[in-house]
Amino acid sequence: MDFNGKTVIVTGAGKGIGREIARMLVERGADVVALTRSAADVDALREEAGCRAIQVDLADVDATRKAAIAALPADFLINCAGTTELQPFLETTVEAFDRLVAVNTRAPMIVAQEYARFLIKEGRKGAIVNVSSVASFVGIPDHAAYCASKGGLDGLTRVMAKELAPHGIRANGVHPTVTLTPMAVKAWSDPEKAAGMMQRIPVGRFAEPSDVAEVVLFLLSDEAAMVNGISMPVDGGYMIA
Ligand code: NDP
Repeated sequence: MDFNGKTVIVTGAGKGIGREIARMLVERGADVVALTRSAADVDALREEAGCRAIQVDLADVDATRKAAIAALPADFLINCAGTTELQPFLETTVEAFDRLVAVNTRAPMIVAQEYARFLIKEGRKGAIVNVSSVASFVGIPDHAAYCASKGGLDGLTRVMAKELAPHGIRANGVHPTVTLTPMAVKAWSDPEKAAGMMQRIPVGRFAEPSDVAEVVLFLLSDEAAMVNGISMPVDGGYMIA
């Protein structure tokens, strides 16, 4: 897949899956505009990864909209930023729930609105990939707010797919299983829990960021021109186990 001459917005490009997506896109010729939070990551993205980087807290509505507009013009959008907090359902706080929905569900909506408005105004085609999770299909203990936030994101993906496709903009979701990133360390560092999860993955391993990035890039590309509104697991068969 050749992304020469294409500009791609990648949220959450500072670490983990987003960082690998940005690296791969640059390698394949794209100009990457990274939206992420930590200053050190913004510097590294500019100096080491060859990206344009905008520092933003995606939990902040106004800052998110401003950053999305500043990232334009762009050909493609990848909503990859996400966050999690582990709390059993009965102890899930309203504050944590709101924080997760703000970053995992609301921010992708805001960024996609600005991106799509721009494309429609310019009469250009495009594609959006929202990075969801197997957690939107499966109830994972201690992940109530996270599962809900990703389920909400899937709803957005499907509505975007219907409303934006007539304008030439496709929208799809990618659903990784446990992927070896800083987030996975936070959620799966308990060896007993990790072993239980691993057992349910027929290919016998967790995902690498590159496993997810390849699928994201395929869904953006013209090779996937007829793929719209899908929820694509990248889970080594976890969903059928
Ligand atoms: P990481 O925690 O490794 O990286 C997440 C990136 O998103 C970081 O750069 C982080 O910046 C950024 N980010 C988080 N919150 C904000 C915010 N409020 N404002 C701006 N940037 C923010 O996560 P992963 O790479 O593992 O996850 C990427 C996506 O994949 C997420 O949507 C996640 O839900 C999903 N996913 C991950 C899985 C996994 O096992 N790793 C499994 C399934 C789905 P900073 O560090 O500066 O906050």
